[in-house]
Amino acid sequence: MTNLDLDPGTPDTWDRMLRAFTAELMDPRSGECLICYVARMLDSFGCDTHLRFASRFRDLTAPAAVALEGRLHRAGACCDCEIFLNGWWLDQRFWSATSPPARAAADTGATPPPVPLPRCAGVGRGSTQACSNWARRDRLGW
Ligand SMILES: [Zn+2]
Ligand SMILES: [Zn+2]
Repeated sequence: MTNLDLDPGTPDTWDRMLRAFTAELMDPRSGECLICYVARMLDSFGCDTHLRFASRFRDLTAPAAVALEGRLHRAGACCDCEIFLNGWWLDQRFWSATSPPARAAADTGATPPPVPLPRCAGVGRGSTQACSNWARRDRLGW
């Protein structure tokens, strides 16, 4: 097929489809919390050593939360993956025999093993807090 075969409306249709597809892949879901969103994005796209997805979440859902990066920095997270290295990890009720306690990983300084992500417990509109699936690592004792 050449461009001559395309009807004049097609580029616009493709553009809209691409945008819808991108939003489906890369936008926070309704009620999804910051931490679940970043975990889901890192799973697909990895960390670029910035708070890329945390900032995107804020821009799309809570643009007034300009202090978000500062709050994450204070939790030890200067990039998206450090949110999980230093800030939050799945609450202990999600740990199981098949997902070895993250303590072992913490002892070696490695990234905790991936655990199948539970469905986000949900937060209110405009919130940048973690949902109840997550616990602050300093409160887990490691
Ligand atoms: Zn990182
Ligand atoms: Zn969540």
